[in-house]
Amino acid sequence: SVGKKPASRAPSYLSFDDIGGQDHPKRELMEALEFMVKREEIQKLGIRPLKGILLTGPPGTGKTLLAKAAAHHTNSAFVSASGSEFVEMYVGVGAGRIRDLFKEARSKAVKQKRNSAIVFIDEIDGIGGKRDGGQQREYDQTLNQLLTEMDGIQGDESIRILLIGATNRKELLDPALLRPGRFDRHIQVDMPDKTGREHILRLHGRNKPLDPEVSLAKVAEETFGFSGAQLESVMNEAAIYAMRDTSDHVDQTHLTQAIDKVMMGERMDRETTK
Ligand code: ATP
Repeated sequence: SVGKKPASRAPSYLSFDDIGGQDHPKRELMEALEFMVKREEIQKLGIRPLKGILLTGPPGTGKTLLAKAAAHHTNSAFVSASGSEFVEMYVGVGAGRIRDLFKEARSKAVKQKRNSAIVFIDEIDGIGGKRDGGQQREYDQTLNQLLTEMDGIQGDESIRILLIGATNRKELLDPALLRPGRFDRHIQVDMPDKTGREHILRLHGRNKPLDPEVSLAKVAEETFGFSGAQLESVMNEAAIYAMRDTSDHVDQTHLTQAIDKVMMGERMDRETTK
């Protein structure tokens, strides 16, 4: 870090502008976040505070990015966990972890001098999902703790908490989580369309030397059904192919090779999980 600045440094935060496509979920999320931003007006009108937003959709579509951007947009502290971390053999451990997560959110907000915090739980079906026999008791306690935390969220606290959950299997969620006053807003995050794919490709091409002849519109056309995460891989693999060619630019051939590689990888994944 002496003297020379890196050519392009990733910012420590993530904004809605760093998310490609997903215009509809972005708009819906920003609208919901108004509830956090305009807290005084909300309170005056006697509207109950927004406690939870549920993001649903296939993996790799940007749900985590949306949650992070929501934190930046509302100037909130951000803490995150994955639902799978709460499934424990010992009774009470999962519940304790939930309690700690919310505590951490509040103390982080205080430390960072912010008046709100966003708690993000990915794969929330791991907590609020239906599971079989053995782990039932522990899972109930964990879920109950989560419900308790949600019910404890007040509009007039000095630190406002918002829970954002993500799942790709909404049908597995316990109905208790979906009741009014819990996850009040549901936002569907789907695979990107062609325009969205081009936008995502452009974002991930920002730090790469693309040949001026490259057509990302063409790449977008050829990547029907790809998620944002897969498109990020395409751009990265293309740069690796460029390096192998000892080329200092990423050209269309590298991109075509990268599409094939990512597509092939997917197919192999599917076959090994069958
Ligand atoms: P999962 O359900 O697997 O947790 P997710 O929906 O939370 O997936 P993210 O973790 O947000 O997906 O995305 C994974 C990576 O894919 C991101 O770090 C980013 O590089 C890329 N990505 C996904 N969607 C987008 C997008 N809309 N715009 C830009 N990059 C994206």
